[in-house]
Amino acid sequence: MTYRTHKIAGLSLLVGAVAACSNPAETVDTPTAEDATRTLTLYSSRHYDSDKALYAMFEEQAGVKLDVRESKADQLIETMKAEGDQSPADVIITSDAGSLWRFQSAGLTQPLASDTIGAAVPANYQQSDGHWYGLARRLRGIAYDPARWSAEDLATWDKLAEDDKAGEICVRSSSNIYNLSLMGEIIHRYGDEAAQDWATSIVSNMARNPQGGDTDQIRAVAAGECSIAIVNHYYWVRLGASEKDADRNVAASTTFLVPEFTAGSGSHVNITGAAVAATADDAALAEEFITFLLTETGQSYLTRETKELPLLDGSPLPEGVENVPDFTASDANLEIYGENQAEAQRLFDLAGWN
Ligand code: FE
Repeated sequence: MTYRTHKIAGLSLLVGAVAACSNPAETVDTPTAEDATRTLTLYSSRHYDSDKALYAMFEEQAGVKLDVRESKADQLIETMKAEGDQSPADVIITSDAGSLWRFQSAGLTQPLASDTIGAAVPANYQQSDGHWYGLARRLRGIAYDPARWSAEDLATWDKLAEDDKAGEICVRSSSNIYNLSLMGEIIHRYGDEAAQDWATSIVSNMARNPQGGDTDQIRAVAAGECSIAIVNHYYWVRLGASEKDADRNVAASTTFLVPEFTAGSGSHVNITGAAVAATADDAALAEEFITFLLTETGQSYLTRETKELPLLDGSPLPEGVENVPDFTASDANLEIYGENQAEAQRLFDLAGWN
């Protein structure tokens, strides 16, 4: 609704300009010249051609110049801290609610009250004061060797802690934000003590010391180094959609599964999200941009290359995602990933998860 209000406000401004102007030529030129000066600076931790195509559409439609600066999330935080009040940042896009929380807790975001965005994004995928909003969903799950395990064997995260999984698990380092956020929900679900036991058991079930990224863990399963890889769904989907035969063979030799915490708890869901930067001076423009990302076009382009899941029901799924099995999303509020982040790292350290 707020989006419409802005449109209407813009329209009446235009009518006013026409009425006040004696030279008809100026009635055409003035608003266009004003629009051309609108600039939105986006700090993004993403780097996809489909994002660039989407941004170009927004520039065209809204008459806005987007200045996009891409870097890793933690680097963007350092840059924004160094820039201070002078930072040109208007909007931040980054993956993982735990990372959005880092921007927020560093004081780099501001609340955005938007009826449109607030209603579009499910309540548990938005920060309660409007500091960030989900744009797309991602699942942390398991790519496993189906010759070794059944889906039943891996149906809940605590099953990975059982003795029969000794020497079978591949996973990346504990400082990785995806693992910290997963552990944030494990703490929430199992409690502190059981969460620490879980991490300790996972460490003793590891096939090797944590190394590499998620794709490397899937490759390790295909290579027989382990039979269970803890990974985000889109890495597995991208291998399956790869132009390289070898990659598709890696995906084909594994099965993806989205475990629950306990039977019926629902599964861990994370987001890519947007936040309005603390230094943004045109909140309405930031809102217009984020609203655009939540249209069907926005959802389609944001997930096309990343193989994330659209946030909005009814948006078309990117190719390959249909191979991810059905799941029920946990109803946990994603703010807990940030709130539990320090505790998650502490428990990982105690467990010896490097
Ligand atoms: Fe990723």
